[in-house]
Amino acid sequence: MAIQSELKKQLKNRFFDRVRFDEPMAPHTSFRVGGPADAYVTATDENEMTYLIKWVKENNLPFFIIGGGTNLLVKDQGIRGVVISMADGLVKISQHGATVLSAMAGASLSALCRFAINHGLSGLNFALGIPGTVGGAIRMNAGAWKGDMSDVLDSIRIILPDGSIESVDKTGLTFSYRSLSFAAENRRDLSSCVIIEGRFLLSHQRPEFLKAKADSLLNARKKSQPTGFASAGCFFKNPDNRESAGKLIDLAGGKNLRVGDAEVSTKHANFIVNRGRATAEDILRLMNIVQEAVFKKFNIMLEPEVKIVGD
Ligand SMILES: Cc1cc2nc3c(=O)[nH]c(=O)nc-3n(C[C@H](O)[C@H](O)[C@H](O)COP(=O)(O)OP(=O)(O)OC[C@H]3O[C@@H](n4cnc5c(N)ncnc54)[C@H](O)[C@@H]3O)c2cc1C
Repeated sequence: MAIQSELKKQLKNRFFDRVRFDEPMAPHTSFRVGGPADAYVTATDENEMTYLIKWVKENNLPFFIIGGGTNLLVKDQGIRGVVISMADGLVKISQHGATVLSAMAGASLSALCRFAINHGLSGLNFALGIPGTVGGAIRMNAGAWKGDMSDVLDSIRIILPDGSIESVDKTGLTFSYRSLSFAAENRRDLSSCVIIEGRFLLSHQRPEFLKAKADSLLNARKKSQPTGFASAGCFFKNPDNRESAGKLIDLAGGKNLRVGDAEVSTKHANFIVNRGRATAEDILRLMNIVQEAVFKKFNIMLEPEVKIVGD
């Protein structure tokens, strides 16, 4: 359902040049693919964010929160409804007491990691080099090197679908592999909420020690991951979070498979890269081919880690 012109006017009157209609999503994603969003709005503070959440609900429009767009495959027909991104007032990072940091959801995860290192706070090094925002990392329970957000997250602040704001402690959340939800007894759906802030419990460590460790982690990442082509990181989840999806794809002969400009990376078989002009359709077709190859050889159906959104 397209957004009616009266509603477009309301968005324009409130957000001026921070709302765009029929906005191509490709430039907003690290995969560099994706058709237009009906509306793309950038919210700069909590008031705007709550206004938008109430507004889409009142007008019965779907919405989608985008962070850095680094874990997304947006389909070629784009996204119906309103895509909401965060900027300016939603990027603040601050220290509270000795070992607690808070970060607004729109802050980049790498800025949070750097802030922690510079303040001699340990715990977030696993996240170095993971692109995207703090909100996206919390929502995805992002992780690497056997660490993930559940190791350091203490609480989140969220906007509920009615526009109210609530803090949720770690005990009210369930962390799983690349996913976060409310704890079962909560009986609510986190995917209908917006994460606006996270609080992180860290520990003291000398900045020089943290910096040296950070350098070696970043180097290891550079060596093992493809650079120079657009991607969304690891495309598939590791089955049961044990076996390496990349290894299975490699053993199933998946390296180098290609559809149009979408290609399984020769450096890391769990990366699908866009060599320039791939469409979402190319990537989805390649995804199916890889899934079939792995299923045929190992009887394992790989599940995408990348969020596939839109039409
Ligand atoms: C080169 C490369 C390397 C990568 N390496 C890793 C890695 O080592 N480990 C790893 O875990 N991931 C990795 N990723 C994937 C990705 O960077 C992470 O999943 C990242 O945390 C996503 O953050 P984002 O802000 O880009 O989220 P987006 O891609 O914008 O969104 C991801 C999901 O989170 C939701 N979301 C985003 N912000 C909010 C919010 N404020 N409130 C509610 N929902 C929200 C979106 O709606 C969407 O469903 C990599 C990606 C690339 C391109």
